[in-house]
Amino acid sequence: MKRILVVEDSKSVGMLLCEKFQEAHFEVVWVQSLAETETLLSNPSEDFWCSILDLRLPDAANGEIIDLVMTINIPIIVFTSNLSKNVREMVWSKNVVDYVLKDNPNAPDYLVTMVQRLERNQQSKVLVAEDSGFFRKVIVNLLKTHLFQVLTAASGREALDIAKQHPDIKLIITDYNMPEMNGLQLTQAIRTTHKREDLAIIGISSQGDQIMAANFIKYGANDFIIKQTFLTEEFYCRVNQCLDLIYNIQAIKDAAIKDYLTGLYNRRYFFEFGNKLFAGTIRSKFTLACGMLDLDFFKKVNDTYGHDAGDRTLKQLGRILSERMRETDLLARMGGEEFCILAVAVSPAKVEKLFEEIRQLIEKTPIEIGGGKTINITASIGVATGGGAYSLDEMVKFADEQLYAAKHNGRNQVKTHCCDI
Ligand code: GH3
Ligand code: MG
Ligand code: MG
Ligand code: MG
Repeated sequence: MKRILVVEDSKSVGMLLCEKFQEAHFEVVWVQSLAETETLLSNPSEDFWCSILDLRLPDAANGEIIDLVMTINIPIIVFTSNLSKNVREMVWSKNVVDYVLKDNPNAPDYLVTMVQRLERNQQSKVLVAEDSGFFRKVIVNLLKTHLFQVLTAASGREALDIAKQHPDIKLIITDYNMPEMNGLQLTQAIRTTHKREDLAIIGISSQGDQIMAANFIKYGANDFIIKQTFLTEEFYCRVNQCLDLIYNIQAIKDAAIKDYLTGLYNRRYFFEFGNKLFAGTIRSKFTLACGMLDLDFFKKVNDTYGHDAGDRTLKQLGRILSERMRETDLLARMGGEEFCILAVAVSPAKVEKLFEEIRQLIEKTPIEIGGGKTINITASIGVATGGGAYSLDEMVKFADEQLYAAKHNGRNQVKTHCCDI
């Protein structure tokens, strides 16, 4: 669990922040003064991931707390009741993540959102294409303050190569004037392979060249920034807005193909993608193994510990399975407490061993059901291997039959059917 340092002298505000962050599954350490913070940070075993700092404390009325926390090099979000122009400039000069005004009733929720965004940023790759070393550094520093994974390129051509090597880049920030390939050409080239809703592009244009901003958008950029009037705050707003769009669309797409409870693929996607995998595998003569897994006496978990404990069990089982399987395998929750695994390129001799290992892993992993309690669960698994002459539907049917046999034979076991290849 990530630890958040909250420095806030008001009891009511401090308590509210603790509550909000704990609800969002963060651990909070709350202190009320500069002196207390000093004592806390002097202990090297205290480790924080991010901080929320009140600018005005009884023993530090002018934001001195920022300088203190800057020494441990963690993101800082300033929480304050008023912000004059001078204070605002002072705050931004210190590379803070953001500032939040206390008089807004939504401020505590906004703080939580901000911290969750930082978590998301840690997983997000941003590519900066800019030939000016100075300006490139300015942008890279701003992005690093928000914990992004940053890649850089000094020309459009280099940017395009990097984009090919990193298909998971979420945002490209590109200058116009660059050697080899300019920003507009780069934008155009990227758009032949990546849509606006999968990868955002922000163009950087020069003041006095308004048509450039419009061109960037027409060539497929999501937004633009004017170099000379560039404000830190505006930069972050535009970056966040672009990424929110990408992640929101991703969430909508996921909702259609993933199971809400476990985050695994749903039955519909299993057959849709599984059929493609099946066809490709047969063409390339790899073997496939289909394992149908069903928890034993799961109804008892619900009846004994409640439906919530049952849900937690299913979520943890999902995690156990996805950590064990390879990225190329297809794992889905088929419904209820039934899961299906389509494993690619396992030699027939190793199939039984693979699923037996999964069965044992489930049996020996304690499941947390809340209130510090754990239970143990078991699963029965029916497996079909080979399958060259059959369809995915048929393989699933064979696996189902084996699952039925495993249940009738006493549960907590693996039964395998070898399809002819
Ligand atoms: P068996 O060993 O024969 O598979 O017994 P079982 O109790 O696991 O099987 P049964 O089909 O009788 O019961 C399945 C239970 O799974 C009943 C249902 O309430 C529960 N279940 C299905 N989906 C969910 C869910 O999303 N959450 C929770 N908590 N329970 C679920
Ligand atoms: Mg340039
Ligand atoms: Mg069951
Ligand atoms: Mg069942």
